[in-house]
Amino acid sequence: MRVPLLDLNEQYRTLAEPIHEAIRAVLASHRFILGPQVKAFEKAICAYCKAPHAIGLSSGTDALLAVLMAFGVGPGDAVITTPYTFFATAGCIARTGARPLFVDIDPITYNICPSAIQECFEKNCQRDSNGEWKTRSGERVRVIVLVHLFGLCCEMDAIHEVSEHYRLDVIEDAAQAIGAEYPFGERAAKAGTMGEAGCFSFYPSKNLGAAGDAGMIICRDEKLARELRIFREHGMEPRYYHRVIGGNFRLDEIQAAILAVKLPYLERWSAARRAAADFYRAELARAGLAEKITLPAEPYRGRGLTNHHIYHQYVIRAPMRDDLREHLAKREIETAIYYPLGLHEQKCFAYLGYKKGDFPQAERAAREALALPIYPEISREAQRQVIGALSEFFN
Ligand SMILES: *Cc1c(COP(=O)(O)O)cnc(C)c1O
Repeated sequence: MRVPLLDLNEQYRTLAEPIHEAIRAVLASHRFILGPQVKAFEKAICAYCKAPHAIGLSSGTDALLAVLMAFGVGPGDAVITTPYTFFATAGCIARTGARPLFVDIDPITYNICPSAIQECFEKNCQRDSNGEWKTRSGERVRVIVLVHLFGLCCEMDAIHEVSEHYRLDVIEDAAQAIGAEYPFGERAAKAGTMGEAGCFSFYPSKNLGAAGDAGMIICRDEKLARELRIFREHGMEPRYYHRVIGGNFRLDEIQAAILAVKLPYLERWSAARRAAADFYRAELARAGLAEKITLPAEPYRGRGLTNHHIYHQYVIRAPMRDDLREHLAKREIETAIYYPLGLHEQKCFAYLGYKKGDFPQAERAAREALALPIYPEISREAQRQVIGALSEFFN
């Protein structure tokens, strides 16, 4: 049996009818962009995330870009972020004209390491006479874009401490973490609600996937929400008057209508992903592989959260990762490498002046991490095949 990394067949089979109906209704309405479907889906996301405002956007990438624009990030700024993420996180920072200021990850969570942020300030930054933090080359450091990678939230308590101390605005790239929770103070906070703004992607392979590109920003501040709606339409307000330069970051009605059909299932899907992860954990231990490979950490389990992890990806660390991947491929098991190269080593960022060895944890993750098949409907039989092939390789 072939085991794909992600299989959307079952999801489509179950929801085909209401999805077709939703598309038909949009076609009949002749409202295709930023209409009632977008409004309704924004409202549904507000309710789901317990966020006061939601702004539908054309993609997760555009969500990140729009937030950075609304924060006035641009030339003369440096924005702290992780080198171990999908390209868009740092790509958007660079596109504003700001400099991505990379900080290494925590090897357990794969997320940006709070103490490394502090070290970065101590080593590379200083306060000027206005009390603003600047890099050695003089860029202001006032924003951090953190990423809740693979469906696990960053350590927000520690990040909050650092961001308060250095007066950083926190933007959450929650593209892989919709619904994921963190034990933030007294409450179970959803990804995207712990900083000034949270960005979601509804790329088809994300946990909540559209039939094309789509994204969303959530935030608490009403003024920011209003600004984001303006940036979403070329910075236009009122019509044909432009105070700021925005972009076409609008969300389509068809995408919003499809996503609104799917959203009520998200909790169930996250629980099913977690059950699949539990099965991997138990069976890999039973097969004696717990010492040979490193399973994903669950640091917030048992802290009163439902979605302590939403397993957008199930990522293990393995020695001889590339040989293992080849072996699994021979057994018809599809895997993926997220990500093979730290962003500081990408050709397009050579101008930033980083070199190999600058972020040892990100580089080690890039060498060792391997994503195994996971999706809500994955069968235990398919998982047993994966576990069998792993055993075969290590024993
Ligand atoms: C998918 C993703 C994005 C980009 O979202 P798109 O909708 O594909 O533009 C940004 N950041 C991370 C971490 C992602 O996984």
